[in-house]
Amino acid sequence: ALTAGIVGLPNVGKSTLFNAITKAGVEAANYPFATIDPNVGVVEVPDKRLNNITQLVKPKKTVPTTIEFTDIAGIVKGASKGEGLGNKFLSHIRQVDAICHVVRCFDDGNITHVSGKVDPISDIETINLELIFADLESIDKRIGRVAKLAKTKDKEAVAELEVLEILKEALENNQMANAIEFSDEQEPIVKSLFLLTRKKMIYVANIAEDEVSDPSNNPYLKQVEALAAEQGAEVVPICAQLEEEIAELDDEEKSDFLAGYGLEESGLDRLIQSVYSLLGLSTYFTAGEQEVRAWTFRNGTKAPQAAGIIHSDFERGFIRAETVSYEDLMTYGSMQAAKEAGRVRSEGKEYVVKDGDIMLFRFNV
Ligand code: GDP
Repeated sequence: ALTAGIVGLPNVGKSTLFNAITKAGVEAANYPFATIDPNVGVVEVPDKRLNNITQLVKPKKTVPTTIEFTDIAGIVKGASKGEGLGNKFLSHIRQVDAICHVVRCFDDGNITHVSGKVDPISDIETINLELIFADLESIDKRIGRVAKLAKTKDKEAVAELEVLEILKEALENNQMANAIEFSDEQEPIVKSLFLLTRKKMIYVANIAEDEVSDPSNNPYLKQVEALAAEQGAEVVPICAQLEEEIAELDDEEKSDFLAGYGLEESGLDRLIQSVYSLLGLSTYFTAGEQEVRAWTFRNGTKAPQAAGIIHSDFERGFIRAETVSYEDLMTYGSMQAAKEAGRVRSEGKEYVVKDGDIMLFRFNV
């Protein structure tokens, strides 16, 4: 499963956000794998389309798709030198697909800030520097190994060394590896290095409760947004404390509560959606009388591989996929009506699945 790691300095609101995630999370009974690790929370990906398809098809069961968040506690200044939970922390980050970096953007005299004052830019730099140091260390090690081979004019080694040198220079200038563009040939080399600063990053600005209706006046948030823009990263403002309260409400209470703040969506829901699209993920649906269900696929996936997400037999025996777009299904009101209007396409092996497709796979067993 794809997972986003929650990182940040102490006292910025990570645990509060993670509590909100576990409280809002899926029933452990339905997702037994989710109970294995207490640092992992599994949440549904909110999707209005799934609700609308459910109303149309009236299945016995509706199953949303999910993503995971991992609570990665323990980063402090000096983590890359093994301070605090240093190395353990870094190895946990290595395993996540995206990083949600929680930054304190609220003033509260009762809650100590590790460095004495609220300063999101300095906080971000502190953590990013630890990630940069850790990457530099692994790059230096790698250069040590590859350089000798490169001298023998070994083609692969020469290509790798070139990539390593580019990365080294950038990191030494405090640049994150995800800010650098590589060619299609170089990309796999970069990927093979599993760098921390190459991961997709979202800044989660933890703002005060009285700012959620209109966060635009929060000066800290403005600073974070400016920095994120330079890095091409996204910022999601939330109030972690409020999210924890919202996570305890049922759906109806939740909409009422949010309406009180003039909001339609919770901050957590926005965060989940941002992570989802940041990871290049989309959703297709299956819609039968038994079950309407959302499935996650990577953008660019072809029909047989999308079928394989449900079951490997579907991929192996793939014949074709009867496919209708979400919009067409809503317009015509039923699969049958869409079919009669000629809106149900028979797609083959080369079809690239689109976000919102409703699919029925035909396959040989
Ligand atoms: P962590 O060390 O990053 O996990 O931080 P915690 O989640 O434990 O939060 C540190 C303190 O900040 C706790 O006392 C929280 O109740 C408080 N806190 C978290 N989020 C907010 C917030 O949005 N507003 C305010 N005022 N306090 C918060």
